[in-house]
Amino acid sequence: MAASLVFRLHDRGPEVVREVLLERGWEEYDQEEREEEDWNLYWRGSAFRNSEYHNLLPWQRLNHHPKTVGITRKDCLARNLRKMRATFGSALYDFSPTTFILPNHYTRFLSEYNNLRVTRGPPVYWICKPVDLSRGRGIFIFEDIKDLVYDCSVIVQRYVSKPLLISGYKFDLRIYACVKSFHPLTVYIHQEGLVRFATEKYNLSSLRNPYAHLTNTSINKFGPFYKAAKGRVGQGCRWTMSKFRHFLHSQDINELLLWQRINNIVTLTLLAIAPSVPSCPNCVELFGFDVLVDVTLKPWLLEVNYSPALSLDCQVDITVKRGLISDLIDLMNYTLSDSLRERADRGHGCKRLCFRAKRPRHVPTPPVLSRFEGTKIQKRRSGGQSAQTLPPIKTLRQPEKMNQRQSRQHASGADCQRRLPPVDSNQINATRGRLANETHRDKTLNLIFGPCSRTNASVVNRRTCPALAPQRSLHVSEVTSHDDAETEAETERTGEADASSSIHDTPHRELGFRRSKLPNIYSGSHGAVRMERTPGLSGQHVPPLRVGGFIRTFPFNAATLRASRHELDVKVVMKELHKLTAQLATPGERLRRDEEEAKKETDGEEFDALLWGPKDPPLLSQCFKPT
Ligand code: ADP
Repeated sequence: MAASLVFRLHDRGPEVVREVLLERGWEEYDQEEREEEDWNLYWRGSAFRNSEYHNLLPWQRLNHHPKTVGITRKDCLARNLRKMRATFGSALYDFSPTTFILPNHYTRFLSEYNNLRVTRGPPVYWICKPVDLSRGRGIFIFEDIKDLVYDCSVIVQRYVSKPLLISGYKFDLRIYACVKSFHPLTVYIHQEGLVRFATEKYNLSSLRNPYAHLTNTSINKFGPFYKAAKGRVGQGCRWTMSKFRHFLHSQDINELLLWQRINNIVTLTLLAIAPSVPSCPNCVELFGFDVLVDVTLKPWLLEVNYSPALSLDCQVDITVKRGLISDLIDLMNYTLSDSLRERADRGHGCKRLCFRAKRPRHVPTPPVLSRFEGTKIQKRRSGGQSAQTLPPIKTLRQPEKMNQRQSRQHASGADCQRRLPPVDSNQINATRGRLANETHRDKTLNLIFGPCSRTNASVVNRRTCPALAPQRSLHVSEVTSHDDAETEAETERTGEADASSSIHDTPHRELGFRRSKLPNIYSGSHGAVRMERTPGLSGQHVPPLRVGGFIRTFPFNAATLRASRHELDVKVVMKELHKLTAQLATPGERLRRDEEEAKKETDGEEFDALLWGPKDPPLLSQCFKPT
């Protein structure tokens, strides 16, 4: 019988992850009882170390991709979005309020501030935020520069002073986006999310009142009116996204366009780092995008949260976050083979690392990587099974000048891959068969999907065994780090200005993850990274349209699927986003798509996507049907 799947939680949290996994029949990792590598999911609020990525085994998953700080720290996000705007223009990259990083860009800020003053338009407001704090700490709003006082690195951002209000209260949206993979870019957004309200009426004449201007729950739950009924908002300071949808329905607005613009924000923000995030097929990451909608229904990106808070403070939290985590586990796509980790070991006594690091010659191999060389592997539950020693490595092709130690590490991985235990493949095939017949109700499969799994057979098991998937090489670097806090609510983002600075700025470092060669489109030149047109979609992995409440938002058509298959062609993606948004922006006379062109685009094969946002997400192709 297959063993249970096992999870590890760093620093004992978050509780909702533990609860959901235990309900699904998982077991919690116990250091005293289990081998170091005897787990399937390691969940941390903070960043993983390099070695943790490098030692990842086929059945293991981590809840962070490496090197995503380029969007999750306020100054890095500002820098990267500015670069994207400079490269691709502001037609699409217009969703972030003008931002300056101080003290570095003080002169630029001063000049903008003065320019706006002399034009004598309506008053302009600014918001100042420390780059490495969260939960609204250290934030203030000002109109006059004499009120700008700071003693740490901050960003000063144009304050969106005309937000959409509900019963006079300001709110923002917490959108949960999951990057299933950066290579190829595969993004899902969850249908549920949070609407976070301020608890005092919005008023520009009281800039110092945090309960009127900041929507952080950590602030508003201590506000004097938190428990009071506040018009349509009601008590407390949170709604579910579903309730917000109801609200939108009651208004006469082009709801589809709003949702699509939010989709765009998520995709365009991720594009800013996607080419330079090292590939890690066994990582999945949940980001919290904070979006403010203004009176004109234009959404603005305020920030992207690394490890969005998962604490369950109220009923709304429970509704949203439990479903979210459950669907996230489904999205991680554990298969029967993942629970067979011990059998694989017993049969072969070797494990194939998920990363094969390409390392400069002069960089020493981290000692931890060598633990698999000739290591005696003992299994906790193997009873009387004797320890096994890795077989000698003989005929493997190695990079020419790699030292012997490195060679053996690579070899052990490749060797193991070639000799996968037959028992696994049989079981995998059996599982496939059962899934295809949608009769996955037996006990064994329940161990994988769990009694609460909301994944249907059509969406699981696309990559039956990630270990077998072709892998990109990884060049190692320092992992940009956050602190050890488990939730965004507790996170103080550590001041690693260098490490976390723009991916495009960061000089290549030894022991650094590969600074990906940027696609040529970054320098504005065409062609070099264009993929050859593939004859049809057959053979390409098409990620499922939805998994539980997660809706696939990227790739969203055949062109973006192709554009992301090898090196991401950002320019093609932009073009497609532009087209899509234009089509949704003209509801009266939605552009009739030329049938021939559409057919050419997909080479006659079907590829569709759902529009994330509306209650019953429509197929994009339906959105464009001529009215
Ligand atoms: P933190 O990480 O401290 O929560 P945020 O950038 O999310 O920092 O800002 C906190 C709150 O301040 C937001 O939830 C929002 O209500 C408000 N806010 C932040 N930036 C702006 C802005 N540019 N315009 C209007 N309100 C803003």
